[in-house]
Amino acid sequence: MRRLVVIPGGRLKSAAIFFILGVMGALVLSVFWQGSAVVLSYAKDRHVVMLDPGHGGYDPGAITKQGVYEKDINLKMANKIREFLNPSGIEVVQSRDEDEDFAPDRGTGKTTKKQIDLNHRIALAEQAKADIFVSIHVNAATTTQKSGAETFYHFNSESGKRLAENIQSELIKIPGMNRRVAKPADFYIIRNTAMPAVVIELGYLSNANERSKLQQSWYQDQLAKAIAKGIATYFGLP
Ligand SMILES: [Zn+2]
Repeated sequence: MRRLVVIPGGRLKSAAIFFILGVMGALVLSVFWQGSAVVLSYAKDRHVVMLDPGHGGYDPGAITKQGVYEKDINLKMANKIREFLNPSGIEVVQSRDEDEDFAPDRGTGKTTKKQIDLNHRIALAEQAKADIFVSIHVNAATTTQKSGAETFYHFNSESGKRLAENIQSELIKIPGMNRRVAKPADFYIIRNTAMPAVVIELGYLSNANERSKLQQSWYQDQLAKAIAKGIATYFGLP
C-alpha cells in the first residue's frame, strides 16, 4: 500500500534545491570554460623541439684514431642545447639521453638496421608532437684541412630552410668560425620527418684543431648557445 507523504513546505524545498543545483551547474560550467581556455592558449604558445643526438649504442658515428667517438659529442651537445633552451620556455624532447641505439640486431627486408633506428627517432618526434626536429652530428673528412659547422635542410622544405638559416647564421658568429651558409640536402632523416628538420654538423673531427675544440666545454657551450638562439629565433622568441 502506498502512502502519500506530505512534506510541509515541500514546494519551497524543491525550489531551493533547483536553485542550488543551478548555481552548482553554473560553477561547474565556468570551471570547464576557463579550463578549456587555458588549454587552448597553452597549445598555441607551446613550442616543442626534438633534439636528436645522432648515432649511439652499436653505431659510434665518426671515430678518430685518438679514440674520439662522434656519438659521445652528439649526446653531450644535445644536453647542452637543452640547457640553453630551458629559459626560453621551449619544450625539449630528446631521442636519447644515454648511449643507446634503436636498431634490432638485423634489418628486415629492404629496411636496413640503420633505417629502423632512424625511423624510431622520427616516430618519437611525431609522438611528442614536435614542431621541429634537430639532429646533432659531428663530421669527418678524408682531408685534415676542412673545418667549421654546417646546417642542412631538406631541399623541399621552406620552413626547414628557414630553421637551418636561423641556426647557421648564429653558428657563424662564433669567433674563428668560417662562414658557411645553410645547405639543401636529401639525408634520410630530414626527408622522412613530417616537421621541419635539420641536420647540424658541428665541425670536423678530422681537423686537429677543431677536434680538440669540439671536446672542450667552453667551445661546446658556444656551439650550444648559438643553436639554442637560432631555434628561439625560428619560433619568434627573443
Ligand atoms: Zn653523424
